[in-house]
Amino acid sequence: MVDMRKIIKIVLLGLILWPLTMTRAVEIALPEIGDSAGTLISPQQEYQIGLGFYWRLQQSVDLLDDPEINSYLQSLGYRLVANSDAPHLPFTFFMVPDSSVNAFAAPGGFIGVNSGLLLTSQREDEVASVLAHEIAHVTQRHLLRSFEKSQQMSIPMTIAMIAAALLGAADPAMGSAAIMAVQAGGVQSQLNFTRANESEADNLGMHTLVRSGFDALAMPAFFERLQQASRFYTGNAVPEFLRTHPVTTSRIADARGRAVRYPLVRQVSDTLQFYLMREKLKVMGATNLTHLTQEYENAIKTGNSLNKTATLYGYSLALSAVGNYAHARQVLAELIKNDDDRLSYQLALAEIEIAVGQLSTALAIYQENQKLYPDDQALSLEQVSALLQANLPNEAAQILLRQLELGAPSQQLYKLLAQAQGKMGKKSQSHSWLAEYYYISGRLHLAADQLRIAADFAKGDEYQLAKISSRLREVEITLAEMEES
Ligand SMILES: [Zn+2]
Repeated sequence: MVDMRKIIKIVLLGLILWPLTMTRAVEIALPEIGDSAGTLISPQQEYQIGLGFYWRLQQSVDLLDDPEINSYLQSLGYRLVANSDAPHLPFTFFMVPDSSVNAFAAPGGFIGVNSGLLLTSQREDEVASVLAHEIAHVTQRHLLRSFEKSQQMSIPMTIAMIAAALLGAADPAMGSAAIMAVQAGGVQSQLNFTRANESEADNLGMHTLVRSGFDALAMPAFFERLQQASRFYTGNAVPEFLRTHPVTTSRIADARGRAVRYPLVRQVSDTLQFYLMREKLKVMGATNLTHLTQEYENAIKTGNSLNKTATLYGYSLALSAVGNYAHARQVLAELIKNDDDRLSYQLALAEIEIAVGQLSTALAIYQENQKLYPDDQALSLEQVSALLQANLPNEAAQILLRQLELGAPSQQLYKLLAQAQGKMGKKSQSHSWLAEYYYISGRLHLAADQLRIAADFAKGDEYQLAKISSRLREVEITLAEMEES
């Protein structure tokens, strides 16, 4: 029997800190990947490898599912991608709710960021510098290229190798042949760091950073902050990534030397949204909300905070979380008075209305904001949850299908679609959407099960039945591809 908690621990501890460390080069046979032009592993295969890793990760870790924070991360990520050396590659940015400072990149543009990274940073430029560094690892195909000594190997085996390299542990979900290959290659003992890759990612990342309008000095500044933070740890308390992969003084010096060669940018590149989402994360991850509320009160009293507006916003969220809705609303009203179009405030206000049982008031807020932000997924998903609560599944489904057309599928979108269709009595459709929810989160067996249930409910509806069986075939083929090794 596999101990899930242990796996989660291993995964969380083991995610390597790419921005701060040397790339792990695994000396093991992997498919021919050719040169950096990508002649042997096609971009499609690379994406499939990354997706396989992303799925495997989700089997061990629940990713952060706050649509507002996810939207923010995506937009920051894409602002950088647009200014990278591969602006047309698809990227997926996601957040791991974990307090350790970490970020990592898998092939195919899958970039994970720990919430601890946002909470430790003090400026948006700092987070951007880490993301830019990760984007460079992807565009330069460092991880794939680091698997040297070419030999034909299947995609599932490659995924197993990547997972082992990135997650720092042999993954129990991998096939037995892959486990043997990992053992034979001694992945664990032979993880080497290539300084050249790190330096290249720092270098290219800084270029992207500056082109995106951020401050080049943010990169060495953040390295320094991490180096200082690590001083407070002693012995075994030092996080694994800092113990084994220190932010070296020479790396900081290199980054600083490069940064000063860029023309100075205006120091106003930070967005308010960064500070707001940082406070939201803080409230979401708080173990003692009463204590946090007091911290906010102190910060407001002394004027000692990173961003006064964001502090008030966090204070309001914390008050709301402890059930002090009247006070929360009062704080929020002050913010709205000065900035009434800001969606984050409106969403927080609607949430308070729902909490105090004023569902129709909340629905009116959502509807009003749809006029200003018709494409916003966070707004749509929260509106849909409220509509479902109000037993209005038809309206909910319409909004969801529109979001789907915009081309930004997410776990929550599929889950809510399944709920809406279920409430509408469309059982076959409901199970089909649930299948998509499982599929996107990498649980392909469950996706196939749901499609079979959906097919049962579709009896007599030839069109729906044909759609389901073709999708089931696709899922089964992917399953076979992922498991063959
Ligand atoms: Zn790196």
